[in-house]
Amino acid sequence: MLLIHCPYCDETLPELEFTYGGEAHIARPETPADKTDDEWRDFLFIRTNVKGPHFERWRHAHGCGRFFNAVRDTVSDRFLTTYKSDAPRPDLAVLIKEVAMKEPSK
Ligand SMILES: [Zn+2]
Repeated sequence: MLLIHCPYCDETLPELEFTYGGEAHIARPETPADKTDDEWRDFLFIRTNVKGPHFERWRHAHGCGRFFNAVRDTVSDRFLTTYKSDAPRPDLAVLIKEVAMKEPSK
């Protein structure tokens, strides 16, 4: 079972407590009326769909109810980190190094 850490409750809980909220760090245009149809379509539907570490939004639906961000490796389905919605986006290269240092050596 997938375990997810809620940065607000500071608890690691089963995936069933959470709902996926799509890609993180997608900013809504400040003046949507100024966007072309193609720009608006891209804002609504076009996502990176990366293979590997992916920035995502999650909601602790059956707990505190708050949205937070996470970095999850889409290949291994492993969470590299979770962080509060108002926290800055982590540097991916630094994060990958930190996670590798925490892993037991083989
Ligand atoms: Zn929570």
